[in-house]
Amino acid sequence: MVKMPGNYKTVKKCGVCGAPKTRWQIYMKLNDEQNLMKCTDCGFLFNNRQRIDFDVIYPDSYFEKDNEVGHGGGFYCYGLLCKSQQMMYSFASDFIKKTTTGKATVLELGCSFGFFLEQFKTEGAISTEAVEMNKLAVKHAKKIVGRVYETPFDSFTTRKKYDYIVFFEFLEHVLEPKKTLEKVGELLKDDRYAMIATPDAGTIWFKLLGKRWSSIHPAVHNQYFTKKTIRKILEDSNYEIISLKTSHFLWADIYHIRKRLSEMFPSTKLFWRLFSFLDHKVIPFFNGGDLRVIARKKAISPR
Ligand SMILES: [Zn+2]
Repeated sequence: MVKMPGNYKTVKKCGVCGAPKTRWQIYMKLNDEQNLMKCTDCGFLFNNRQRIDFDVIYPDSYFEKDNEVGHGGGFYCYGLLCKSQQMMYSFASDFIKKTTTGKATVLELGCSFGFFLEQFKTEGAISTEAVEMNKLAVKHAKKIVGRVYETPFDSFTTRKKYDYIVFFEFLEHVLEPKKTLEKVGELLKDDRYAMIATPDAGTIWFKLLGKRWSSIHPAVHNQYFTKKTIRKILEDSNYEIISLKTSHFLWADIYHIRKRLSEMFPSTKLFWRLFSFLDHKVIPFFNGGDLRVIARKKAISPR
């Protein structure tokens, strides 16, 4: 077992249905400190203990090359990912473009460098805002996003209401997903949309690969959703599901793909280097399953 020193918070109830510890089973041992639990009431998968030493697991260098393996990040060169990020989350940008009439405001949680929002820069009717806690990412995002708040989402306050709130590869990181979704609901106008991407633990790949599944990062990923559990938590938090799909591919530039393959199979490193002249090309690459969700906030008061 790998030692994972750090500060932890012990989870007291299931993040989706609220069931107490007596209703959980150990699904998988992750390391000396953490187990992946399964709630027998709702099927939700989550860490029993969550890292809260954020300065260690989300260092300023999170988006920089050679970030410590197992802490997530490790993007080699995040600056290259603009085009691939936009292609990866086109389900959300297409939907925004399709459903916007007149002016609209999009808020992104954990916007990283702001690549997703960059595509709206030239769309006068759509204004963009973002919440991001990484210093380096904020520095980049400020150049392309209308307004960037440098804060964790838990501490973010505003009196504004948004038309769209998007968060990609974000919900699996939070400590209390229901609280996060309820806060998103408070920030959305009635009948407007939340759009989410998060790993899909319901795919065959997770069952086959177990701990080696690409989305297992015990230090930073606390929650693992399936179609069933994301639907339940959203419906319980006053949303109506508009669309719920699994994507089996991510879009990535050749540079990141050959880096990843070289890490998985070190002896092939020199071979992949032959393809370096294609580094900027973006192609689909197997991702192990990722959910794509569009949900509408239901109006609470009768209209
Ligand atoms: Zn549960």
